[in-house]
Amino acid sequence: MFDYLIIGAGFAGSVIAERIANVLNEKVLIIEKRNHIGGNCYDYKDKNGILIHKYGPHLFHTDYKEIFDYLSNFTDWHIYHHRVLAFIDGKKVPIPFNLNTLYMVFPEILARRIEEKLLNRYSYNSKVLILELKKEEDEDLKLLANYIYEKVFLNYTAKQWGLKPEDIEPEVTGRVPIYISRDDRYFTDRYQAVPVEGYAKIFERMLNHPNIKLMLNTDFKEVMEIDLENKKIYFLGQEFKGKVIFTGMIDEFFEYKFGALPYRSLDLKLETVEKDYFQEAAVVNYPNDCDFTRITEFKHIHPVESKKTVILKEYPKAYQTGKDIPYYPMFKEESKELYNKYRELSNGFENLILAGRLADYRYYDMDDIVKIALEVFEEGLR
Ligand code: UDP
Repeated sequence: MFDYLIIGAGFAGSVIAERIANVLNEKVLIIEKRNHIGGNCYDYKDKNGILIHKYGPHLFHTDYKEIFDYLSNFTDWHIYHHRVLAFIDGKKVPIPFNLNTLYMVFPEILARRIEEKLLNRYSYNSKVLILELKKEEDEDLKLLANYIYEKVFLNYTAKQWGLKPEDIEPEVTGRVPIYISRDDRYFTDRYQAVPVEGYAKIFERMLNHPNIKLMLNTDFKEVMEIDLENKKIYFLGQEFKGKVIFTGMIDEFFEYKFGALPYRSLDLKLETVEKDYFQEAAVVNYPNDCDFTRITEFKHIHPVESKKTVILKEYPKAYQTGKDIPYYPMFKEESKELYNKYRELSNGFENLILAGRLADYRYYDMDDIVKIALEVFEEGLR
């Protein structure tokens, strides 16, 4: 009946399904545990017409023209340059920390001296990781590094990961480098935009094809069995000989055979506020105050006429297997080793392909996932 089974209707699963249906003209079944498509990119309009990102803010940005062009087949875009402020010592200042931030948090004479030293050391528009800046020997640069480390990274990272910045992979804090520039934008990619009608519509259009069938509200374990001994996959009691593309948690797929991988989860709290606007920017980070890490106000991302506004507070927490949503893979040496064991096990399955943030156990952005899904299709399925 089906040539392919895909588990998960997020970007990885949906892009691969769309390609199989349109390019190969073959039949695919998507099995999705939630009652909606789109994975964590899912969004919806509330009763006031405000578009809400159900699983936290998603801001599309990419340097890959081909990925922007590919997604443009499924949506029109509003150009949107994301800006983030951080609440530090009673002031809201631009993040990533940049030359504008420098002048807002230090007295002018000191800020000037630091700027001069930074520009002697790094070129204008360059990006410096906090853990690199911390190695500077010059007294002024040291002062700057310690300030940023303590006021921006230390407590935010403790809340977000339960760890110190130096105890997580440098690529995590490296997502928000110090920017030697006057540019206040959160991202500097060539393409920055949000889908005019939201992300869910992208997925609806991708999956709207007679070759694609969708089984919502279905945990893959209800319809599939994995024979770890003989490396075979069964669907509704019969061996499935077509390709299986799994985009969920790799440890769950293999029944936690080697133990559970660590993830980080969040409690998300939505509030409707009786005001036109609540805050000055789409996202305000609270590194040192409050239990939440940040507040997102959706009207800044998708402007709409309304006397009300909706905000989202994110409270990070430890992930409990099977109970919480595994928003982020946790980067530590031990967890990478464990992941590699699962990956090796998966290689023994002839017809199994893994793709996506959870299956690859990587901190992918949306464009990374779309890119990988297109590569998986081109290299593994065509
Ligand atoms: N980070 C921080 N302070 C900030 C912003 C970010 O310490 O004000 C660190 C923190 O460790 C965080 C990481 O940088 O997990 C990546 O931040 P990003 O905004 O990219 O996180 P995401 O939007 O993916 O949750």
